[in-house]
Amino acid sequence: MNEFLKAVQQRASDRPKERTGRTECPYCSVQCTMNLHEEKSIRVSRFSVSPNKEDPVTDGRLCVKGLNAHVHAVHEGRLKYPLLRIGASWAAVSWEKALAEIGGRLRTIQAKYGKDAVGVYGGGSLTNEECYLLGKFARVALQTKNIDYNGRFCMSAAAGAANLTFGSDRGLTNPLAEVPLAKCIILAGTNLAECQPTIMQYFRKARSEGCTIIVIDPRETGTSAIADLHLRVKPGYDAALVNGMLKVIVERGYVDRAFVESRTTGFAELEKHLRGVSLAEAAALSGVAPEAIVEAARLFGEAETGMVFTARGVEQHASGVANVRNFLNLVLLTGKIGRPGCGYGAITGQANGQGGREHGQKADQLPGYRLIENPEHRAYIAKVWGVPEEELPRKGVSAYEMVEAIDRGEIKGLIVLGSNPVVSSPNSRLVERALAKLEFLLVIDLFESETARLAHVLLPGSAYLEDEGTITQLEGRVVVRRAVKPLPGKAKLDWEILCLIAETLGKGQYFKYRSAEEIFNELRIASRGGIADYSGMTYERLEREKGLFWPCPDEAHPGTPRMFAERFGHPDGLARLVPIEHQNPKEVAGRKYPYLLTTGRVLQHYLSGVQTRNTPELNSKYPEPLMEIHPETAGEIGLVNGGHAKVSSRRGTIRLKVKYSPKIRKETVFVPFHWGDDRCINRLTNPALDPVCRMPEFKVCAVAIAPG
Ligand code: SF4
Repeated sequence: MNEFLKAVQQRASDRPKERTGRTECPYCSVQCTMNLHEEKSIRVSRFSVSPNKEDPVTDGRLCVKGLNAHVHAVHEGRLKYPLLRIGASWAAVSWEKALAEIGGRLRTIQAKYGKDAVGVYGGGSLTNEECYLLGKFARVALQTKNIDYNGRFCMSAAAGAANLTFGSDRGLTNPLAEVPLAKCIILAGTNLAECQPTIMQYFRKARSEGCTIIVIDPRETGTSAIADLHLRVKPGYDAALVNGMLKVIVERGYVDRAFVESRTTGFAELEKHLRGVSLAEAAALSGVAPEAIVEAARLFGEAETGMVFTARGVEQHASGVANVRNFLNLVLLTGKIGRPGCGYGAITGQANGQGGREHGQKADQLPGYRLIENPEHRAYIAKVWGVPEEELPRKGVSAYEMVEAIDRGEIKGLIVLGSNPVVSSPNSRLVERALAKLEFLLVIDLFESETARLAHVLLPGSAYLEDEGTITQLEGRVVVRRAVKPLPGKAKLDWEILCLIAETLGKGQYFKYRSAEEIFNELRIASRGGIADYSGMTYERLEREKGLFWPCPDEAHPGTPRMFAERFGHPDGLARLVPIEHQNPKEVAGRKYPYLLTTGRVLQHYLSGVQTRNTPELNSKYPEPLMEIHPETAGEIGLVNGGHAKVSSRRGTIRLKVKYSPKIRKETVFVPFHWGDDRCINRLTNPALDPVCRMPEFKVCAVAIAPG
């Protein structure tokens, strides 16, 4: 057994065998804290969780997912041993054998086809330490340019827009505690009530204190139930709607001239563009009545304070960056940012959607939100890592484009950690086909996911109860998640697995960590001076202060709960107003495909469902995807509630159970995306990509529907 593996095994046996205590939910970006309890009897242990009353964000709330989050982690069906593909079946093997196989296969592929022939695919639920390490592993151990992650499908449009407009991307510019200070709030394309239920309290409180809430969503949802004004926009027409609002704001004098003059550039161009916008056309395109657009603009324009929040409904489009930038225009024109109760928030979906996008697992990125094509950034990180700058690879391609490169035969080997691209990618048939072509696929996961089924080696990774590390939750607050339970069987911590593979590849000297905290301490140095500067944070401070907001550039710095109070992130300190031309979705309803499909989450499930489908308490409540359709539309097609429909797009057909919903627009159907195989709605979705951020157009494609 090699020394490195021996040290890892020794650490595992030194860890306490039984632990309970405080940890954090593995699911959405709120990161509610919880206490794990173990009740032991002679034969079995029973686990349960309870909310943590001292949680700084949720005051001890957990949603149904959080209350059942531990169930998948203690599931008997967890992977417990390394598995090697032998023909159509798996053989359990030792770590030595699995690592020898992995090292041999990766070396062979890189020797034959070049370093970039191996790709790495990460996830937005990994800890900051693992995101950081995965980026370093790709660039230093494999020396491949091909690394990206599933957060590309989650936050990239909001991040792209914030970087362009503000010069910096932190999901929420203000802490949630400031929400009740807002007098008008716009919630666009976000269903907080189902996706982040424990923060609804902030919006309810705001409303009870006189705030007006405007929801922009094609569907009536639990979130729109608290709205004073609900604009049921047609999927894909947000930018047109906002152009109408901006026009009203300029024409009726709601522009904060002093703010615009002192804090922004680009007003003249935006004003000129808005002169050419027709309110009637904005209404016709968006499906929202002109009076409602005027009213929304008036409410937001007249309010003394206000905030705008966006999420995937606005962002998951081939024009996602432009859509978000138009909402940022709204915030800037009215001067509603950088003050208490004034700001913008991208409601991140994944557990570590924020930290996951900061520390180097994106194709174009290095830690601290540095850029891999920037010579100074390259030199700094190369020095931290102790490698020559010229050995760092250049920029790679985005997640879906990496799959296309596999399909073309340019990438021959892939390592997937904490992700299930066969379910979560658009046009997922192509993903299945491409991954099946790989000469070597290594998957590290908790269960045999749809992606893992295609693997040549499957390694048992760590669940949230076992995996220590930091997470940056949706506010930009960095928190420590403590391990509260030992690993099952021969499973290993995800970061340890990366170190072991690096050792096998002869690069172990760069990966000699003994704890997640050691990785974090290196991340702190790597992020120093970057946009997302964590250098003033220590585990001890994060615990004591219940998290810290970045940037936090030194150990005496209090962190930055509110961004942009005095200047924006661009070198001149000014934000960029920009004219946004509405662009139609890449597919519009037509003769052959007369309806619009939009996708999203339901309360009981998370992402590709690997964890929540393995939680009977959740899965039994929502066991299969339902197609929500307006009863009148269903009647026209001949569908009955509870019956089945065949839904087809240009990319495929699937069969779904029908659920009547008078709460949805008549031309639109909604299907959740948490299932694989012949229930995978992403077999139908459109892989058209945003030109700036490479976000696919998940949120709208044209479909045909027939009884089935
Ligand atoms: Fe909290 Fe989100 Fe977990 Fe629900 S899913 S308990 S809101 S972190």
